[in-house]
Amino acid sequence: MPPVEHSDALILGGGHNGLVCACYLAAAGLSVTVLERRGVPGGAAVTQEFHPGFRNSVAAYTVSLLNPKVSADLELARHGLRVLDRPLANFLPGEEQGYLKVGEGRTLGEVARHCARDAGQLPEYWRRLDVIADVLRELALEAPPNVTSGGWRDALPELLNGARLGKRLARLDMAMRRELLELFARSAGDYLDQWFEGDAIKAVLGFDSIVGHYASPYTPGSAYVQLHHVFGEVNGKKGAWGHAVGGMGAITQAMAACARERGVRVQLNAPVRELLVERGRAVGARTDDGREWRAGIVASSLNPKLLFQQLIDTALLPAGFNERIARWRCGSGTFRMNVALSELPDFNALPGRALAEHHGAGIIMAPTLAWMDEAYLDARRDGWSRKPIVEMLIPSTIDDSLAPRGQHVASLFCQHFAPELPGGRSWDEVREQVADHVIDSVTRFAPNFKGAVLGRQVLSPLDLEREFGLIGGDIFHGALTLDQLFSARPMLGHADYRGPFAGLYLCGSGSHPGGGVTGAPGHNAARAILSDRRRWGGRRDSRWRSAAQ
Ligand SMILES: Cc1cc2nc3c(=O)[nH]c(=O)nc-3n(C[C@H](O)[C@H](O)[C@H](O)COP(=O)(O)OP(=O)(O)OC[C@H]3O[C@@H](n4cnc5c(N)ncnc54)[C@H](O)[C@@H]3O)c2cc1C
Repeated sequence: MPPVEHSDALILGGGHNGLVCACYLAAAGLSVTVLERRGVPGGAAVTQEFHPGFRNSVAAYTVSLLNPKVSADLELARHGLRVLDRPLANFLPGEEQGYLKVGEGRTLGEVARHCARDAGQLPEYWRRLDVIADVLRELALEAPPNVTSGGWRDALPELLNGARLGKRLARLDMAMRRELLELFARSAGDYLDQWFEGDAIKAVLGFDSIVGHYASPYTPGSAYVQLHHVFGEVNGKKGAWGHAVGGMGAITQAMAACARERGVRVQLNAPVRELLVERGRAVGARTDDGREWRAGIVASSLNPKLLFQQLIDTALLPAGFNERIARWRCGSGTFRMNVALSELPDFNALPGRALAEHHGAGIIMAPTLAWMDEAYLDARRDGWSRKPIVEMLIPSTIDDSLAPRGQHVASLFCQHFAPELPGGRSWDEVREQVADHVIDSVTRFAPNFKGAVLGRQVLSPLDLEREFGLIGGDIFHGALTLDQLFSARPMLGHADYRGPFAGLYLCGSGSHPGGGVTGAPGHNAARAILSDRRRWGGRRDSRWRSAAQ
């Protein structure tokens, strides 16, 4: 018989949210074990050498959403994390000519070059977005009001929670409340069309609405996804995106260092095969090697579909619960490449191979919203687009730890690659062909690109699922659509980080506030766990949720 291991809390998955949750629980004095399937902690936020001498962030590649409170509480800077500002936020080149640069102190002048009216609109557009992003920022570390079906004992705290939310929203004047509604319900395309005329400014702003969101920028609800990408900050600059020195793995290495310092046991190469449930209560997990890990608290940072369809006997779950999980939409349409480069790309729109500020920007190769719309329609029909949407980031322009001197690494973050290919084809059949197509597409913007590629790493949606457990390759553990957000993430009745069994908690991106390297779900779940322990002295949860509920 393999030995049985015991701890107060067991965390399933050592991605960044699992680590954050573990750190908070350990700080409160609990003995904590993290079970991670891979040989490194960090989930989708990891750095790896992918070509001799060239390292890069494998999946997530840029930082903004990481919550400052989490960062401070875990002392990530003391554990080695350094985040640098980008020299320029974004560069949007045309295939042949014309470009837009946006960044601090630059955008107004650049937009005015194209359209004076648009430049005039920008300050008010930013003001409104800022006010609303501030509200979202505050809500990121709050549990959303949970819809309960129990008696007053369950309902009362949620009523108070709802009242607190109402108070926050009441701070917005009527005009801003209308704006908020528009941002939640409308498409980014419609929203931006009513503000601006220029294709380039709409594209650079609207790009955020399709990042990790397999939809057209004209799909209702996409304006919220745009908003989701602006509620972060870098070094105190709201809405900015930056670079973690050493790649995104530096964030999770710092988190893992904090966890270890607090006494957390981070067990690598430990794939969970089964959640152990006894008499309606989660009591631990069994790993592939047959070992049992027992704990009074089990917190899962896995995609909800993965946990509830693959690691639990679904017969233990209520039919309504299983139905909701079956309908949980995963599949962000993401194709991700890393390339080793012998030289910097020389853009038709802004020639030059010598390092310039635009090389340090998020380079968006999708010059119009119509381009993005078409990419989505193509992908629905053919699996991917003739003209894909590619964002390129070349972190070696500001971080010399990633590539040999004079050479570079680039992340290619490509949107709208069907999670499931039409005609029953597998991504394994077409991965390399599609990677060639992406390289050709970038080469249309920068003719020296193809010749500069020394090596590449390619992750199709299927690879993202296999490698990281991202079901459907979904970078957010589930689409950020209205029916999967806030009190509905992952479902009504479980937005408070508490699962369908007593002792089971949800601490990953499938819970509020969703995906991105935020640390927020891990933080919020730890707070729910500790509040239950305070309330029940560690003996039971606030709710004994029987499987029959
Ligand atoms: C291609 C890509 C690009 C992205 N770009 C960005 C970006 O630039 N910036 C940003 O902020 N966000 C980005 N994201 C989103 C962000 O990376 C994720 O939302 C975030 O990392 C999710 O963190 P998590 O801890 O909730 O889950 P994950 O990071 O998914 O961690 C879950 C962990 O569980 C482990 N696991 C799975 N199954 C088991 C099992 N059976 N047993 C044990 N362990 C298991 C996995 O190995 C993984 O380590 C990107 C994601 C991807 C995929």
